[in-house]
Amino acid sequence: MRRKIVAGNWKMYGSRSMASDLAGAIAANMPAEIDIAVFPPLPYIAGLRAQLFGSGLQFGAQDLSEREGQGAFTGDVSAAMLVDVGANYVLVGHSERRKYHGESNECVARKFAAARAAGLTPILCVGETRQQRDSGETEAIIGQQLDAVLKLNGIASFDTALIGYEPVWAIGSGETATPQQAQDVHAFIRSKLEKEDISIARRTRLLYGGSVTTSNVAKLLAQADIDGGLVGGAALTAIDFLEICAAAQ
Ligand code: 13P
Repeated sequence: MRRKIVAGNWKMYGSRSMASDLAGAIAANMPAEIDIAVFPPLPYIAGLRAQLFGSGLQFGAQDLSEREGQGAFTGDVSAAMLVDVGANYVLVGHSERRKYHGESNECVARKFAAARAAGLTPILCVGETRQQRDSGETEAIIGQQLDAVLKLNGIASFDTALIGYEPVWAIGSGETATPQQAQDVHAFIRSKLEKEDISIARRTRLLYGGSVTTSNVAKLLAQADIDGGLVGGAALTAIDFLEICAAAQ
C-alpha cells in the first residue's frame, strides 16, 4: 500500500509573513494519515522549518544545482545545503524550469542524481505539452523524460524518489486532466518502471499535478495509480490546501 502524499508548490509567490501564516495554518490543521509537504520559495525554507520543527509538516525545494559538493557556482544552491536547512524533498524537472531555464532531460537527470547523493528525495516532474498530446506523442515524450533519468541513475534510485505527472497544458490553466487521462499516463509510467523492476515500480509513488482543486482532487486520487497531488495555485490558500489534504486521506 502506497502512502498518499500531497505536495504544495508555492512557486515564486508570497512573502516571509505570508509563508509563515500559510505553513503555520497547514501544520496546525493537517491530517496525520498522509505525507504533506510544502515547497516554499528558497529563502523561506530555513525559517519555516525552525518555526514548525516537530509538527510533521515536511519541506521541499523547487530546484537545486546539478553540481555535487561545493564550488564557485554563483547563484547555485546545492542539495547538501537544502538538507542542511531541513528540506526533505526537491522538485526536479518542473516544466517551468524546463521552459524558462532550458533544462534538458540530461540536466534533469544530473539534478536527480545530485539530490539523491545528498539524501534528498527528488520528485521527478514529467509531462507533455498540448501540441505533443494532440499529435499523439504523450507516451513518447514522457518515455524520453524517464529514460534519461533511468539511464544515469538506474531503477534502484526510484526506491527513494517520486514522480510527478504534470501535463504542461493543465498547469495554471484551470484545465485539469480528466481522472482517466491522468490514470492512463500514470499507468504508462508505472509500466515503464515495471519493465525494470516490478517491486520498485509497485512501491514508487506517482503524483498528479495540473489545476488540482478542492472539487477535482477526490476523483483524481481515487484512480489506481495516482498516489498523491502536486498542487500549485490551490496550495497558496490554507483552507483549500487543507481540504485537498483531507480529500486525499
Ligand atoms: P497549478 O496547480 O497552479 O496548475 O500548478 C501545478 C504545478 O505546477 C505544481 O507543481
